[in-house]
Amino acid sequence: MIDFDNVSMIYKSGTEALHGITFHVDPGEFVFITGKSGSGKSTIIKLLMREEKPTSGDIFVNGYDLLSLSRYDLPHYRRRLGVVFQDCRLLMNKTVYQNVEFAMEIVGESNRTIKQVVPRLLHLVDLEGKEKSFPDELAGGEQARVALARAIANAPDILIADEPTGNLDPKTSVEIVDLLYKVNRLGTTVVVVTHDTRIVDRLQQRVIRLQDGEIVSDTEGSIYENEACEY
Ligand code: ADP
Repeated sequence: MIDFDNVSMIYKSGTEALHGITFHVDPGEFVFITGKSGSGKSTIIKLLMREEKPTSGDIFVNGYDLLSLSRYDLPHYRRRLGVVFQDCRLLMNKTVYQNVEFAMEIVGESNRTIKQVVPRLLHLVDLEGKEKSFPDELAGGEQARVALARAIANAPDILIADEPTGNLDPKTSVEIVDLLYKVNRLGTTVVVVTHDTRIVDRLQQRVIRLQDGEIVSDTEGSIYENEACEY
């Protein structure tokens, strides 16, 4: 499903953000990518979203070769990805319902499907009763849940979450990560970039750990237990 093969990334500035990264993610896996600030986590997301191309190496995702992806194929490729950002990026002039609805409208879903799916999504993320609220009327955790509902509205093959708990308190962070896990259990491959050791510990899933642009460990289950917090 996701294949990074000896991927290196040197930005125009000359900074080498990734050096010889190789990893493989199977369909249905849940993977954390973790590491200190500057270790290359966001660069992996940019490559996955094909906002950047690597300097060398190969990347295959969902049957697409990201190095030779045509302009025509790019929107098709991106449509199969759901992305949740730390800052949620909600449309502030639209309600909770409309934020999720809009994600489906722009890919041409029928009104009938939208009317069926949006309430189900809002139920899944436990936002029933908030349909008519605007983002600025919501708590941080609720905004994150709208962002999650929107990211999965078009049933993506891969859900990518970039520091999804970055702005949240510990209790709310746990709720969000439990929801990400729920989405994974429903069949979506989930990649979570985070430096939040608590959520990594909680789920006991695979952890790819970066340091200075290289993978220093790739393990099942938490690597942080019994380790002093280093972040
Ligand atoms: P992380 O997400 O783990 O904080 P990044 O992938 O953002 O790490 O950054 C890895 C390295 O690449 C850092 O040294 C950073 O300064 C550099 N970097 C990131 N984006 C750019 C860019 N657009 N241009 C130049 N250097 C960049």
